[in-house]
Amino acid sequence: MKKIVALLMILCSLFLWGCGKDNATQSANKDEALKIEMLDIGQGDATLIQTKEQTIMIDTGDIDERDNLVKLLKERNITTIDKLIITHPHADHLGGAYAVFKNFEVKEVYDNGDPTTTQTYKTYLKNIKEKKIKYQQLSANDELDFGSGVKFKVFSPTKQMLKSGDDLNNNSLVGQLKYNDFTMMFTGDAEKEAEENMVKTYGSELASLVLKSPHHGSRTSSSEAFLKQVDAKTVLISLGAGNEYGHPHKQTMERYKKLGMKVYETDKNGSITITSDGSKDYKITTEK
Ligand SMILES: [Zn+2]
Repeated sequence: MKKIVALLMILCSLFLWGCGKDNATQSANKDEALKIEMLDIGQGDATLIQTKEQTIMIDTGDIDERDNLVKLLKERNITTIDKLIITHPHADHLGGAYAVFKNFEVKEVYDNGDPTTTQTYKTYLKNIKEKKIKYQQLSANDELDFGSGVKFKVFSPTKQMLKSGDDLNNNSLVGQLKYNDFTMMFTGDAEKEAEENMVKTYGSELASLVLKSPHHGSRTSSSEAFLKQVDAKTVLISLGAGNEYGHPHKQTMERYKKLGMKVYETDKNGSITITSDGSKDYKITTEK
């Protein structure tokens, strides 16, 4: 009898130890389940998103930053990009795609289908075709699965906007990344018109903890109605120091300040990293 009791005690403690260990492992993994890095690539956008299952890139920076982008991705031990999302075909978002295709395995490409006449765009399409990469055009209400419970829902442009509008910026893919209670809005170079349309259509669904500043902090974006609806506490601006457009515009910075938003800028902070365990308490670290 004593032997059976002892055996039961051992089994019980092994079971409890097992449970405890499991929990510890899960919470350690949970902490690093989502990492978003707005890379410092000068005037342009390039954001790297890593979940436990996938590596995603939203935009690729400009042509003259290709070497820098490849360096930054290699430093992070990236070999495969599961999903490459191009918000719109302007060079400061699409320019690095050539180098990404050349140096990394890209499994899927998503854009809004808006064509343009540049050589950069033609080469981009040629690469997708030659490498037989899965290619899909997105519009409002489409959803992507980033793995590990991280989703991405597209809010703009609508199919109608793509049909009738010829403004490449306003047709930028805008979407919200959602990981349980953590949310971040990605905006490309969407302007006031697209913002107004989203506010009308989606209202409170736009609410996000973090906002990627639309169009590098331009005064033609970040309209008050949109900012109020998104109601972000933190805004990240990707831009080059002393850029020729005067980004970020003073009016935009004042709007952010008025709403009490904490602002991070790649020209001053370097690459900006957000890590999330899916709660409302995300962490932000900067290179400088
Ligand atoms: Zn841009």
